[in-house]
Amino acid sequence: MKLTDIYKQDKTILSFEIFPPKAQEELDNIDETLEMLCDLKPDYISVTFGAGGSSNNNKTIAICNKIKEKYHTEPVAHLTCLSYDKPEIDEFCKELEAAGIENILALRGDVNPNAPSKGVFNYASELIEYIRPKTNFCIAGACYPECHTESPDKVADMRNLKHKVDAGAEVLLSQLFFDNKYFFDMVESARIAGIDVPITPGIMPCLTVKSIQRMVSTCGATLPLNFQRIIERYGEKPEAFLDAGLAYAISQIIDLLTTGCDGIHLYTMNRPSAVKRICDGIKNII
Ligand code: FAD
Repeated sequence: MKLTDIYKQDKTILSFEIFPPKAQEELDNIDETLEMLCDLKPDYISVTFGAGGSSNNNKTIAICNKIKEKYHTEPVAHLTCLSYDKPEIDEFCKELEAAGIENILALRGDVNPNAPSKGVFNYASELIEYIRPKTNFCIAGACYPECHTESPDKVADMRNLKHKVDAGAEVLLSQLFFDNKYFFDMVESARIAGIDVPITPGIMPCLTVKSIQRMVSTCGATLPLNFQRIIERYGEKPEAFLDAGLAYAISQIIDLLTTGCDGIHLYTMNRPSAVKRICDGIKNII
């Protein structure tokens, strides 16, 4: 089922993001992760794709195929473009089509010194413009509540987002954020700019202090004062921190849903037990 049809349903859309594990042992256990996640009845699961030069990208396609065929859940394959040329993108698209994948999250990918740019696709919108007329995929794109780290300002970022939607992105999934105000402001600016596709907030539950610090430094998300207090108070107590982090994610989600968001995209970090605790916390809400 295409994302556009999923979002037409009269319900709150719940979706998850997973990544293909690097270690073979974890890959062998992907079924355990998928089984637990699919039991939570998500509307779709997206699978990340390496920024380049990674054999994990074949795993993205294989895992998407498994999500569809074995777990009867709709997969969305991420596809990055910076370090690929047109024949390589054509090949990925062919493999995705052969695997019966209908939805793609088209991305530029992060600048990665280990996988230099091929200089063919510089932005996600260029990838979308290239694959749109050649394929039948429903294409989603990424958006950034706190502005993409390389953007000079929010106006430039919004102009580029509008260009991405005009190129053919039919759904937008957001970068993680810890203060909902940034998401609400971005959606308002997007609507003013004439972007009328579904915009789904991406929520990353805080499971460990280390993972949060890593995410904050790579994507530049602001940690609000009440979250900093959680780190100060429970940072040395992993179990208490986990409880507080999950409660924080639940309260963020409730605020987003009561303010009218039509879906929630959870960055699962392949930790289904934490995701289950969040879903249990909102089971009568979503
Ligand atoms: P773009 O939309 O191309 O934007 C990149 C920058 O260029 C922005 O600053 C934008 O404002 C600017 N820009 C865009 N168009 C123009 C233009 N025409 N002229 C000038 N400037 C322009 N990374 C991975 O490697 N694998 C993944 O699976 C993955 N999944 C992700 C999923 C989500 C939901 C999100 C939010 C991010 C994901 N990322 C992933 C990270 C993403 O690849 C990086 O954030 C990357 O730096 C930008 O990708 P993009 O597609 O948003 O880029």
